[in-house]
Amino acid sequence: MPFTVAIVGRPNVGKSTLFNRLVGRKLAIVHDLPGITRDRREGRASLMGVDFQVVDTAGFEELGGDSIEARMRFQTDRAVEEADVALLLIDARAGVTPLDRHFADHLRKAKTPVILVANKCEGKAGAPGLYEAYGLGMGEPVPVSAEHGEGMYELFEALMPHAQKAGVVLDDEDEDEFPPFPDETAEAAEAEVESDPGRPLTMVIVGRPNVGKSTLGNQLLGEERLLTGPEAGLTRDAIGVEWIHGGRAVKLVDTAGLRRKANIYDAVEKLSVANTLESIRRAEVVVLVMDAAQILDKQDLTILRLIADEGRALVVAVNKWDVVENPQVALGRLRDRLETSAPQVKGVRTVTMSALNGRGIPQLMDAVIDSWTVWNRRIPTAQLNRWLAEVIERHPPPALPGGRRYKIRYITQVKARPPTFALFATKPDELPESYVRYLVNGLREAFDLKGVPIRLFVRGGR
Ligand code: GDP
Ligand code: GDP
Repeated sequence: MPFTVAIVGRPNVGKSTLFNRLVGRKLAIVHDLPGITRDRREGRASLMGVDFQVVDTAGFEELGGDSIEARMRFQTDRAVEEADVALLLIDARAGVTPLDRHFADHLRKAKTPVILVANKCEGKAGAPGLYEAYGLGMGEPVPVSAEHGEGMYELFEALMPHAQKAGVVLDDEDEDEFPPFPDETAEAAEAEVESDPGRPLTMVIVGRPNVGKSTLGNQLLGEERLLTGPEAGLTRDAIGVEWIHGGRAVKLVDTAGLRRKANIYDAVEKLSVANTLESIRRAEVVVLVMDAAQILDKQDLTILRLIADEGRALVVAVNKWDVVENPQVALGRLRDRLETSAPQVKGVRTVTMSALNGRGIPQLMDAVIDSWTVWNRRIPTAQLNRWLAEVIERHPPPALPGGRRYKIRYITQVKARPPTFALFATKPDELPESYVRYLVNGLREAFDLKGVPIRLFVRGGR
């Protein structure tokens, strides 16, 4: 029996779209109308080199039973029963509906483990729904966009513990190479990630053409170490190459991208935003390489924005520092430009280095690990609210029309990777954007969340 994943959820949340995304073929017609009849479809899917069977339950609502709930339950039960794990899809743009709750309640009773997946999370429109999804009590939702292919790495990560339980190993020969994914609730799992040095941090190297990405990649891995293999402390699998830095397992993924550059035509290679985005999505930490002679041109800013939008941890590597004539002046200019041009990642760790002679590479790797640690940080709610009280005291939000006081109730961190907070207030829509920015900057300062994107959602109620 292959590892089998069932996709369940109310009509129109994007089950077929996700199915097609995973199977990689346009098997089904996708309609905007809910409840279009479709056959139960099964397909061979693949994520990050792991194959599995996927079952789409879309269209079940047309079959059996009387009430829509009963009909869906009947079909869903069968698919779920036969699966190793079920993906409960919700539409983050629509928020959590009563039917979603119904599905969640029902699935809670099943023996099959369930992963909550918040679809349609591209852009920012999914944010409130993603937050609401926590309220379903099905653990931390995995934000994805089936239509745009976003969040597939996260989905892969969420599926892996179940795949391993079902006996799946990577295509590679060596089973032990696979990271030991923790298998608790998402929150506990994240806490464990930090304390588990066996699970590698994943990083990618991105940047404009010719800034020195390949040189850095080769320098990090070392040609010889590549040849001598694991004895020298390097292991590879379908996803990337892994080694230990400062006691922490680090995995450089997307190394194919690094080695692609084998012929002279690549010298005129242009920046591919699509490829860059794909790489960014594969990793937790992104190393953005820049050329010291051309700091932060338009393309660099484009990449920075992608990284921030994707919520990845970031380290900026300023390469070719060996040919900089006045390092002191250059450093000052570099810091200024970063502060003014990339406010989303204020305080980002910046390392000057030379991929050619290896200077600065240990510092770069230290920065990668630091940045990742911050990205994973969880701040206790009590601490956050103590901070919030002080901040409001120092600089209260502007009064509402009519002179009434704007009431902020409390703040909590809803997830890490990247740090994401929910702020509860009386009139979420009326809290000025400038005040939200003030709070975000305050959080960054107070809890030392430098150089990682921070998300803050303002919510009403409770
Ligand atoms: P199903 O009924 O659950 O199988 O849902 P479908 O896969 O048929 O999708 C329903 C609608 O949602 C279609 O119009 C899709 O194009 C749309 N959709 C699916 N995934 C996404 C997504 O990630 N983002 C957005 N914005 N729309 C999506
Ligand atoms: P990529 O396109 O980003 O992969 O860049 P490459 O690694 O191919 O490097 C482009 C050019 O810059 C090559 O000629 C490298 O030798 C050179 N280069 C890379 N790193 C450094 C460095 O640290 N210092 C100097 N002086 N040249 C470098």
